[in-house]
Amino acid sequence: MKKGLIIVDYQNDFVKPDGALSVPNADTVYEYILKMADSTPKELIVATIDAHNEKEWELLNTPESAKYPPHCVKGTQGCKLYGELEQKVEAGNIFEKNAYAPDKTAFYNLEDCDEIFMVGVVTEICVYQTAIALYTAMANINKYPKITVDLNGCYHLNETAAKQQMQYLKDYLGITVIERA
Ligand SMILES: [Zn+2]
Repeated sequence: MKKGLIIVDYQNDFVKPDGALSVPNADTVYEYILKMADSTPKELIVATIDAHNEKEWELLNTPESAKYPPHCVKGTQGCKLYGELEQKVEAGNIFEKNAYAPDKTAFYNLEDCDEIFMVGVVTEICVYQTAIALYTAMANINKYPKITVDLNGCYHLNETAAKQQMQYLKDYLGITVIERA
């Protein structure tokens, strides 16, 4: 059984209480994520990081820049993985993205996994969209690993929305969702 792990956007700007787009309580799942990382072979840990160009807020009116304040600007501390996670993930397995989900190539290192666990923030936006992107990337190369979102390692902004999106993943993509203990 080969088990992989995807850590979604667990970055300073989202996780630190004084981060640019802080998600309340996101830091409470840090120890759980570390434990998952420690029990996964390093080469099978992938992290996505939101990485924006500051021009998005100054010059380009993107859908995201219209909705959120500047966050995760490339090259800043806020863009970096939180805490010790940077040491837990190989540099080549950290994928920058300029959207809610990464490009499909972010998932190919996990293509031989039997099961892929997902944790990170926020449940109803980037974890949700990355789960869909993962399913799609795998299905299009005829791979169907078991995908499990573990809510013990996730945090949401809107609990009702998070529940709806997780239900969608279960109903349409056969994704397993582990409820918070
Ligand atoms: Zn963003």
